[in-house]
Amino acid sequence: MVNALDRSSDPQKRREFASRYRRWFPERGTADESWYAEYYRTVRLWWRPESGDLPQEEPDPEFGFEVAILRHKLMVIWSFVNSGAISDAEKFIERANVWLDRYHRRRPSDDPDEEWRCKLMTAINYLERILQLLKICENPECQIRYFIREKQKKYCSTDCALRAQELRRRQWVEQGLPGRELTPEGRQRISQAATERWVKYREAKKQSSKEQHKKN
Ligand SMILES: [Zn+2]
Repeated sequence: MVNALDRSSDPQKRREFASRYRRWFPERGTADESWYAEYYRTVRLWWRPESGDLPQEEPDPEFGFEVAILRHKLMVIWSFVNSGAISDAEKFIERANVWLDRYHRRRPSDDPDEEWRCKLMTAINYLERILQLLKICENPECQIRYFIREKQKKYCSTDCALRAQELRRRQWVEQGLPGRELTPEGRQRISQAATERWVKYREAKKQSSKEQHKKN
C-alpha cells in the first residue's frame, strides 16, 4: 500500500491490489466526493512528514481517497522512523489508532466489529511492534522505497545497493573526487603494496612448510 501498487502501470498489479484490499476500507458512504477531498486535505495538513512534502493524490474509482489517506499516513510514520525520530513516529501511530477508533463511527460506543476496521487495527498494531524496522531505501532511483528491514540494511534489495554504489562512484568522478579512477602514482602505490604483501605471504608460507618438513 505504501509503495502505491494501486497506481502501478501494470494492470495486473492494480487488479491484485484491489482484490486484496477491497475489504480493508468501509463501503463508500453517501457523502459526496468533495467531503472526502476536504478530509484528505485536512489529513495532509495534520500529518506532515519529517521533511519535504508528500505527493498529492487524486481519488481513484475503487477506493476514492481512502487509500490515498492511509498511504499518506504510512509515509509520514515511515519518514519519522527513517530519520530516527522514533518518539514522533509513535505519536503518529497513536494518532492513527485514535482515528481508527472514530472513523465512520456513528456512536463511539459501537463495537469495532466491522471487518475493515479490525483489519486496519491489526495492521497498525503490527506496525507499532516493528516500528524500528521501517526504512526508506537509500537508492534515490528505487521503485519500492518503503520497506521493512532486516538488520541494519540501508537498501531494500541487493540491486538497489549496487545501483546506489554505482551512482555514488559516478558522482565522485563528476565532482573530480578520487573514485576508483586513480592517478598513475596512486595505482603504482597500491600495486607496490600488493606486491609487498604477496612477497611477505610467500616467505611466510615457505618458512612454515620448511618447519613442517623438519618436524616430519
Ligand atoms: Zn530499493
